[in-house]
Formats: sequence, C-alpha cells, structure tokens
Amino acid sequence: MTPSYDTPVSQSLFDRAAAVTPGGVNSPVRAFGAVGGTPRFMVSGTGPYLTDADGREYVDLVCSWGPMILGHSHPEVLSAVQAAVARGTSFGTPGEAEVELAEEIVRRVAPVERVRLVSSGTEATMSAIRLARGFTGRPKVVKFAGCYHGHVDALLAAAGSGVATFALPDTPGVTGAQAGDTIVLPYNDLAAVTEAFAAHPGQIACVITEASPGNMGVVPPRDGFNQALRDLCRTHGALYVSDEVMTGFRVSRAGWYGLDGVEPDLMTFGKVMGGGFPAAAFGGRRDVMDHLAPVGPVYQAGTLSGNPVATAAGVAQLRLLDDAAYGAVDTVSERLRGLVTEALTAEGVAHRLQSAGNMFSVFFTDTPVTDYAGAKAQEAFRYTAFFHAMLEQGVYLPPSAFESWFVSTAHDERAVERIAAALPSAARAAAQAKPEAAA
Ligand code: PLP
Repeated sequence: MTPSYDTPVSQSLFDRAAAVTPGGVNSPVRAFGAVGGTPRFMVSGTGPYLTDADGREYVDLVCSWGPMILGHSHPEVLSAVQAAVARGTSFGTPGEAEVELAEEIVRRVAPVERVRLVSSGTEATMSAIRLARGFTGRPKVVKFAGCYHGHVDALLAAAGSGVATFALPDTPGVTGAQAGDTIVLPYNDLAAVTEAFAAHPGQIACVITEASPGNMGVVPPRDGFNQALRDLCRTHGALYVSDEVMTGFRVSRAGWYGLDGVEPDLMTFGKVMGGGFPAAAFGGRRDVMDHLAPVGPVYQAGTLSGNPVATAAGVAQLRLLDDAAYGAVDTVSERLRGLVTEALTAEGVAHRLQSAGNMFSVFFTDTPVTDYAGAKAQEAFRYTAFFHAMLEQGVYLPPSAFESWFVSTAHDERAVERIAAALPSAARAAAQAKPEAAA
C-alpha cells in the first residue's frame, strides 16, 4: 500500500538520516520496513499525543515501546529530571538516586532481593544469562521462539527446527559458537522443555522467557506454563529467568510477577523503570546476585550504569505509579480492546484481540495465537492497511503486526474518542486489503 498523504519534512529528515545512518534509523522497526511509507520524525510529545516534524498530531499507542506509561512530558517526571540535570549529569560514582531506584524495585517485586542497574534491556538479559552460567557452571540457555530479549548474540537465535534443536544464528555476525549453547523451543510447549532437560542433563544453566511475551504480538503464557517452567528448572538445578523488560512495572506494581506470582530466580527490567531514559536492571535471589563482581567472580560493569538523570526519572515515574494509575491504564486498555474488536467485527474481519494485563495486540486470524508459528500465520497484510488508515487519521500504532500496543494514564476520553473515530475506516481498509498489498 502506498500511503496517500504527504510528510515532506519527515521525508527530508529520513533522506538525510539514510545518508549517514544505516536505513536512516537507530533501531530497525522504526524504519517502517514492515508497513512501508515514511517513518514519522517526532519533535515533541505531550500526554497521549506526539507531534511530527510536519506538524501533525497523533494519538500515541506505542508510548516509546512501553516506557511512557504516564504519557509524554509528565510534569513531575520532567521536574525531577530538570533538578537532576542541574546537579550534574554523570559522576562515575555511586549516588543516592540509584539507591532509591533499587530500593523501589526491591520493595515492589518480592523475588528481587538484590538488583544491579544497567542502561538497556539488552544489557540486563545479557548480564543475567552470564550470571546464570557463572552461578551454575553450566553452558546452555533455553529460550523460546518469538521471545525477544534484546540483541544479545546468544539470544538472537530464534530459529531451530523441532524440539531441543541447537539454534542456528538468526543473523550474520553471530557465530555458531555464540549461538551453539542456545536451545530454542516453541513457546507454551512444556513437553519440549521437559525433553530439552532430558536431552542435556546437567548442561542447562537457565530457561529465559518473557514473563508474558509481547514481541511476537501479545501471546500470554498458558495457565500454569510459567509455574511449570520454574518447577522444571528447580528439579534440574537450572535458574528460571523471567524477562520483565516489557511487562515490568507496566502490567501491575510488580509487573507480570504481580499477576501470576511465580517466583523467578532472576528477573530483568527496563522500559518503564527508566521514565523515558536509558535505565534497566537485573535482579533476584541474593545468593545468585552475590556472584556478581565486586562481591563475586562474575564480571559486569557500566560507565553510565545508575546514571543520576536516568535514575531520577525512573524514581519519579515509579513513585507516581500507584494502584489508581494501574487501574486507569487497565481501564483504557480494556476500552480500546473493545473498540478495536467492535470495528473489525463490524467489517467481518477475522481477528483475535489478545491481551496480557494492559498490553494488547490484534492478530488477523480466527485462531487463538499461542506461539510464534501461530503469530506468523496471521494475515499480516491486513495490518499494513489498518496501520496506514489509522496513521492517516492521526493514530500512531506500532509499525509492525508483531508488537504490543501500549497505553498510558494520559489516554483520556478525548484521545479514546479520536481512536474510536479512526477505527471504522481502518477496519474497512483491513477488510479490503489484498495479500499483494503487503509487498
Ligand atoms: N527484553 C524484552 C522483553 C524486550 O521487550 C526488550 C525490548 O523491547 C528487550 C529485552 C531489550 O531491551 P532494550 O531495547 O532496552 O535493549
């Protein structure tokens, strides 16, 4: 589909960007590769709205891929950031805000007895699996197809045919040696996990899973799946690593752990805890975390880890996230899910609206999606048409059918009404879409 609307300033920025940056972007999905058209270069954000370089305003349903749970430019977060900046931007020493952020995380998430701050979710998962290997003295890591844990070499392996197959690297630049200890299994498939433990006795350091996956679209764990993973890990002396970079502090005060209560050995966090700045973390059992330098032998470090501005933003944001805030996000999420379903149903479009707490996404299929194969089997070309129809009407959705949608406490009645008004014609566009249009 070729979008019919002009965005000359974004286009010219994109051309300039492409001349100096591969693909014109600093993170691939931003390039609109899956949906086509010109990526919008945003210049400002307020509450639930973003404004692009051409002066168009959008209701934002990406929220920076999750972090902006209070909406953009929240005054209390901004003033905490401004106060921190005024004191200096980086000291390379310990500081009080990082203690406060760590204390807030430990207070919220019971399985986290000790926490180490880093700057990105990728660093958090990379460090967590290094620690799991260092703690257990074992080499192998189990991950699930369709779960994304950042661009860690060993975790980019997502392919692999059948149960307990050693994954081939999914991207050039990741060697067989780096990915060879990664076992990729189908999501929600406990038999596959049981077989992997049987096939590799005493070899598996950890099972890492998204607490509730949002990176193949929203595909929640089946009832009891996380608990069974944890039990299998315990039986076989492996660590259960729950990646809550996306769900953490978003779906409840204590993230997905707050909803399912399954106790991981290690957890990873990012996004919401940084208040829009680069702050992330990994944490968990004290005896495991105490294997980290400088207490223990497993090395891990970072020049900007616990940065005073990022941690001030994170502390301010988390302190505003009380039960009322989560209630508001849940309510608006439920409302939008209802509106999307209503519009697509009215046009006779086969779809599944899947949710995990307040995260949700739509799959263009009539079959419930429980794993990556199911997610990929949807009619993604319909999403392309749907996406552009929404964009044209001022609603910014994730530029891919395989991403969660995110809402915030700032998504008020006016924002919801704008989305509601855009949905009928977007649903019509989805109904009329043809497979060729996805090319
Ligand atoms: N883990 C999960 C579940 C994620 O969703 C992401 C990013 O989307 C990451 C890890 C990587 O985080 P970052 O992009 O901050 O490196």
